[in-house]
Amino acid sequence: MFRIRFHGRGGQGMKTASRVLGSAFFLEDYEIQDAPRYGAERRGAPIFAYVRASKHPINERGIIRQPDLVVVADDSLVPVPAAGVLQGLDEHTLLLINSHETAEVWTGRLNLSGKVLILPAGEEVEDRAALPFVGIACAGAAARLVGVISRAALEEAIRTELAALGAELVEKNLQVALQAYDLMQAHAAGVSEGGDASAAAYEPPQWVSTPFEGVDIAAPTVHGGATSVQVKTGLWRTMRPIIDYQRCNRCWWVCSTFCPDGAINVSEEGRPDIDYDHCKGCLICVSKCPPHAIEAVPEHLAQAEQEQSP
Ligand code: SF4
Ligand code: SF4
Repeated sequence: MFRIRFHGRGGQGMKTASRVLGSAFFLEDYEIQDAPRYGAERRGAPIFAYVRASKHPINERGIIRQPDLVVVADDSLVPVPAAGVLQGLDEHTLLLINSHETAEVWTGRLNLSGKVLILPAGEEVEDRAALPFVGIACAGAAARLVGVISRAALEEAIRTELAALGAELVEKNLQVALQAYDLMQAHAAGVSEGGDASAAAYEPPQWVSTPFEGVDIAAPTVHGGATSVQVKTGLWRTMRPIIDYQRCNRCWWVCSTFCPDGAINVSEEGRPDIDYDHCKGCLICVSKCPPHAIEAVPEHLAQAEQEQSP
């Protein structure tokens, strides 16, 4: 079975890439699964989409943990733990990165044992969530790398999946996808199918328990004004921002202003204090804090430490 993961940011077309690749596999008589996975609900946030393709019925479900091919549309996501780009990579996995840097740079930087290929990145744009046609280029390149999808199947998949965009955009997408397909000619069939996943080796995920709220809070009916404070969005968090008060220089207007949820309260002395009941873990504060005084800690580790502390 082929197991392929596409990583990108909301707006870069990863869902479309997985659909196009899945359809192209289907046209080559494969059974397929393709599905996107969204994290934070905003444009620019890391998302991934995955494709399974096999000549036999696919009984495997859920996230692909041991991919044969990982395609990264935006190289700024590679070092972001929450994006999970490097999850499950081994010597068998081919990593394709859309980047201005070389494969040697990425191999050295990530200390990877598997093969790395580069899909040459176009011109840098201000808003990376709007990188033009990057998703379809990723789909085209992936189609060539798996070695079982013909140019004709890719073309038909694009025409079918993108028909609603109109003829002009379909042609532009086709051009970009086929260019990427041809670019990977030297590495055609560079991806090999992985074996069956054994339940014996299955490692359960590190769940974070999220208790149910009572129906007066969790139900979709709005019962009264100013009730949103009762919805503990802190339950959404996978990473927890923690302020190191030794390094914090009390420039409170930075973190408290950038927090989209108003979850950073400021004391009269200018000390910022994160309200973990309502911090959803977007980590904007981590990236904006001038002296890097806010650390992102995996939620399950932060919870474990909290439970152990007296
Ligand atoms: S931005 Fe950083 S340094 Fe400034 S108050 Fe917030 S945590 Fe402290
Ligand atoms: S991670 Fe930071 S910016 Fe995001 S909601 Fe929590 S406190 Fe606010």
